[in-house]
Amino acid sequence: MIVRREQLWQRLGNLLSTELPPQLLPQLLSPLGQPLLLSQRRATLIVSRVRLFALLFAVLTPLWSVIDLMVFPLTLWLKLAALRGLVCLAFFALLWLYKPNGSLFNAYRALAILFAIPTLFYIASHTLLGAYQLSSFSAAVGAGYAFLPFVLMAGLAVFPLTLAENLVMALVLLLAQAFAGYLSWTTLNWPSFAGAFWLLMLIGGVTSLAGISQLAFMIALVRQAIRDPLTGVFSRGSGEEILSLHWDAAQRNNSALAVAFIDLDHFKALNDQHGHEAGDQALINATRQLQLSVRSTDSLVRWGGEEFLLIMPDTDMTQARKALERVQANGLGFRPDGQPLTASIGLAEYRYDQLQSRRDLLELADQRMYRAKAAGRNRLCALSSPAVA
Ligand code: GH3
Ligand code: MG
Ligand code: MG
Repeated sequence: MIVRREQLWQRLGNLLSTELPPQLLPQLLSPLGQPLLLSQRRATLIVSRVRLFALLFAVLTPLWSVIDLMVFPLTLWLKLAALRGLVCLAFFALLWLYKPNGSLFNAYRALAILFAIPTLFYIASHTLLGAYQLSSFSAAVGAGYAFLPFVLMAGLAVFPLTLAENLVMALVLLLAQAFAGYLSWTTLNWPSFAGAFWLLMLIGGVTSLAGISQLAFMIALVRQAIRDPLTGVFSRGSGEEILSLHWDAAQRNNSALAVAFIDLDHFKALNDQHGHEAGDQALINATRQLQLSVRSTDSLVRWGGEEFLLIMPDTDMTQARKALERVQANGLGFRPDGQPLTASIGLAEYRYDQLQSRRDLLELADQRMYRAKAAGRNRLCALSSPAVA
């Protein structure tokens, strides 16, 4: 049964994208469990696309008034033009006032506002048009208003959304359509309403697929950009970003944040004696060992050649020491001559060491790593003075 499920995942994965390994597929389903840097980049992209859409709608919405003027009675035109003016203002406000801040909540709110404005316009214009007996030509233009939900549903395709997020958005649009139908219950042409509803559902399905495959590309690209190609752990640039996010969170919530510099001992000698390839393999093994010993919420960063930074959010000094003692006990693999590969580790914690900036946190951990080296290597240093402990 388990094997079958894995096969199913693999097939689904192949259908969606050949770039994504199967263990990343759940990230296409819901935002829960997506890595911090992916959520952050996705949120920023969603908000910038919302703003692009807002600009497009802000320009197009009032333009259509010219056509309305040619076909509708003046009283109806005035009401519609006023509505369009409001919609245009709302889109411009969204464009000017909304800035991405990297949080998904911020992105969801931007999406909700973007879709709420035309949905409200749709329901209001639907009600207005329903109150007028229109000639056949103006009725044809009036019918054009009924296309708005389709435009919105198709517009969903430009956002890199998970399956769950797509379902919620599509459901809201379908409900708005159903509500508009309910408002004109007595005069509703049922077969054409049902046909339109079905079409809207189909478009919703297609756009969800488009959004999910955009997300798959995005996951693959972000992964490539933020990982070190040799070891697969975070690269230094993304490590700086992760640390900055955790530092801000620790300050906001007054929570613990520990970082450790882990520098492999006598690594140059390993390269010199056994070759660069053996060195590369030892680096890969060491990162695997490290990742086995730490929590899934911790981030391992390749800071330099054979130097790693371990970022441990919500971890106080005592817990961090325990984690690193576990790292030492599990070991970092072996040198090609069979000797254990060891590391010198410097540990610092934001609250325990009463540090003012994340630079200070990094510097202190780095200093302590050098103290561990000076004291004879293969040890952990979590104190500045007098003794290495
Ligand atoms: P110490 O115990 O004082 O840390 O000595 P060390 O030899 O580990 O430190 P040093 O900074 O002198 O040398 C680091 C070495 O790491 C030098 C470089 O050849 C090696 N190195 C850095 N990046 C890579 C890499 O990507 N692959 C391999 N194979 N070696 C690397
Ligand atoms: Mg070294
Ligand atoms: Mg070094």
